[in-house]
Amino acid sequence: MRIDLHLHTTASDGSLTPTEVVAAAVAGRLDVIAITDHDTAAGVAEARSAADGHPLHVIPGIEISTSFNGAELHMLGYLVDDRYAPLVEYGNTAASYRRDRMRGMIERLAGLGISVAYDDVVTLAGAGGTDPESLGRPHLARAIVQGGYAHSLSEAFDRFIGNDGPAFLPAQVLDVAGAIALIHDAGGIAVWAHPRPDLFARDLAALRDLGVDGVECHRPRVPPPDAARMGDIAREHGLLVTGGSDWHGEWHGALGEFVVERSLVGGFLERAGI
Ligand code: AMP
Ligand code: ZN
Ligand code: FE
Ligand code: FE
Repeated sequence: MRIDLHLHTTASDGSLTPTEVVAAAVAGRLDVIAITDHDTAAGVAEARSAADGHPLHVIPGIEISTSFNGAELHMLGYLVDDRYAPLVEYGNTAASYRRDRMRGMIERLAGLGISVAYDDVVTLAGAGGTDPESLGRPHLARAIVQGGYAHSLSEAFDRFIGNDGPAFLPAQVLDVAGAIALIHDAGGIAVWAHPRPDLFARDLAALRDLGVDGVECHRPRVPPPDAARMGDIAREHGLLVTGGSDWHGEWHGALGEFVVERSLVGGFLERAGI
C-alpha cells in the first residue's frame, strides 16, 4: 500500500486544486491520501468527489495552526466531518484572521522598505475555486520574490517572514487544547504534525495528557531509522503513528515519490476503517 497522509491544495497554500491533487495522486499510484490544508477543510469535498471511481481513499483532514510552550505547533485533524458546523465556522474565522494577519505582515514589510500590495498577494494565491481562501506566508513569499526583494521563496522566509523573521506574525486562532477539542468534536483524531526532535522529547507526554491521539513520524527529510525510533516512543505513550510528505505542489517533487507503507501506520489505518 502506498500512503501519504499530509497534502495541501489551493484551499490553503498548495499549488494544485483538490481535483488536480487527486489526479496527481492517481498518477503517483497512491492508495490512500489525506487532504490537510491549513485551517480549513474546504478542499475535502472536491477531492472526495474527484476520487470517485478511482481506487484511492481520501481521508478528510485539516492542519490547525496553534502553539505549545512558546513554540509554533501544527495539529493535524484526521477523519473530521468536514461539514460539521463549528469546523466550517472555524475555517471562516481563521480565513478572516489570516487576511488581517496578511495586512499586518505587509505593514511590517513596508517598515523594512519592502512594498507589497495585498491585492497582489491575493492574486498570487489564486482563486482556486475554493472558499474560504486560507491566505498564508507562501503566498506572501511569492509576492516578495515577484517584487524583486528576494531571489527565492526560501530567501524570503529566511530574511523576512520565517518564524524568527522581522515581518512574521503568527496565524494562531486556537490554543492547543482548543484545537484538540475542535478536532474531537468534529469526530476526528488529533495528530501532532512534523514535531521538531527537541520538542518531541520535551512535549510528547504533556500533549498526550492534553488529548493528542497521534504523532506524524514518517516524513521525507527524517531518516527512516529516526522515524522508526520516534514511532516506538509514540506507541509506548499509547499514541498512533502517521506519516506524510507535507506536499504543497510539484516543486516538492512528484506525488508518490515519498510514500509510507501500511506496516508503519497500521493502527491509524484501522482507525480509519481502511
Ligand atoms: P502560515 O500557515 O501562513 O504560517 O504558513 C506556513 C507554511 O509556510 C508552511 O506550511 C510552509 O508551506 C511554509 N513555510 C514555513 N516556513 C518556511 C520556510 N522556511 N521556507 C519555505 N516555506 C516555509
Ligand atoms: Zn503550508
Ligand atoms: Fe505544518
Ligand atoms: Fe502542512
